[in-house]
Amino acid sequence: MSLRARLILGYSTVLITVLLLFGISIYFILEYTLTQQIDQALGESADSLRNSIAIQNVEDLQLLILAPLPFSSSNAYVQVWDAYGTLLVSSPNLQGVTEPLASRALPILQPELTDNRIRGVHLRVMTKPILIGSVYAGQLEVGTPLIVVDRAQYILLLVLLIGSASAVLLSILLGNGIVRSALQPIDAVTATALQITLADDLSRRIPLEVPAGSEVGKLIQAFNETLERLEKLFTAQSRFLADVSHELRTPLTSIRGNVDLIRRMGPDSESLDAVQSEVDRMIRLVGDLLLLSRAEAGNLPLSKTPVVIDTLLLEVLQQAIVLTQGKVQVSIGNLEQAIVIGDRDRLKQLLLNLVVNALQYTQSGGRVLLSLRVVDDCVHITISDNGPGIPPDELPHIFDRFYRVEKSRSRSALGGSGLGLSIAQWIAQSHDGRIEVASEPGKGTTFSVWLPLKKE
Ligand code: ADP
Repeated sequence: MSLRARLILGYSTVLITVLLLFGISIYFILEYTLTQQIDQALGESADSLRNSIAIQNVEDLQLLILAPLPFSSSNAYVQVWDAYGTLLVSSPNLQGVTEPLASRALPILQPELTDNRIRGVHLRVMTKPILIGSVYAGQLEVGTPLIVVDRAQYILLLVLLIGSASAVLLSILLGNGIVRSALQPIDAVTATALQITLADDLSRRIPLEVPAGSEVGKLIQAFNETLERLEKLFTAQSRFLADVSHELRTPLTSIRGNVDLIRRMGPDSESLDAVQSEVDRMIRLVGDLLLLSRAEAGNLPLSKTPVVIDTLLLEVLQQAIVLTQGKVQVSIGNLEQAIVIGDRDRLKQLLLNLVVNALQYTQSGGRVLLSLRVVDDCVHITISDNGPGIPPDELPHIFDRFYRVEKSRSRSALGGSGLGLSIAQWIAQSHDGRIEVASEPGKGTTFSVWLPLKKE
């Protein structure tokens, strides 16, 4: 069942229930109020009639009507019965009626009010026993037609039925219009979603033609945000695929060139070195890619233990000295003792990635300075170089995968794939730390790593 039908059905059911309860209550309250007034009047006229009846012979229980009974109006029906069940008197409007007015068989020993239908007339009857002491001597029956009550009830019923039916009909018609216009933006959302699927075009957005704070407005905003995220994700994915293919094509082309050369000229150590270096680059690239994808999928477990980070930095320094082979002067400034909780291998990889970048992008004769300080409850490691620096507008992107400031500048022997900083950042973040960068083009770059100290 559609949402529109469910809404209309829901509120119509509520409306019908309310109207029904309201109608039933009114109907019975009216009946009760009118009948009570009639009952009171009947009681009063029964009392006054009773006073006009005397008992002639106590032993025979003979009733004597002293004077003509005061039949108040043509609407009052009166009967007097004696103890033997003989109808002694009846009001003129009961010509030919020989059965008792009350619906119950005589004698009735307690005053009683009943409804009865005599010759098609609906009557309310008060039956009052005539007692001599406590002995039953006959009974008086006073009735009045209920025509006014019946008519009032009939008219009320009619009004209620017609009124309720019109109210329900009107509310269905109006409600249908309101629900239709309220749901119309949802239809627009559905149509756009379908168009997006058909056209395979994630750049489309649903126009916000309703107030932004309304439910549908929020739905549209949420949907548009999802689309934006999806678009970014797909763009990133296709860029990633293009980047990977590009990264792999370059070394493969170089390998093929060298293999062709070897085939034609025979193997020479230069070509073989070039092939090996490209193969190494590809192995590193594929290894980095695998690591990043496992990290992002949450499949890269970290075995965290206390790590003496100053010793680790010294190890990195040693490795850097070996790598740079005297080209760049690597030294250590401040070195405070500190312990962090983390995965030793990954932390070393983080520091190495930053130090290798510093060596890679610093020209011969340049210098790279490492330092480690404890600031509050954090370890602050800096890796500064006096290399070319990074332009300010490039800084926000350097942690993106495959991002290079100059596409050609990282193709050195150390072989950057554009993944080093992404991996370093992931490692820092998964140790509750962060990496900051400050750079001045022409003067140099400083990478700062902040890691939480091991708590005592
Ligand atoms: P790559 O493998 O190319 O070095 P990274 O992710 O490690 O990739 O670095 C991204 C880019 O950031 C590099 O290509 C380089 O342009 C820039 N970069 C990183 N470190 C430095 C640095 N110390 N000095 C200058 N540029 C740097």
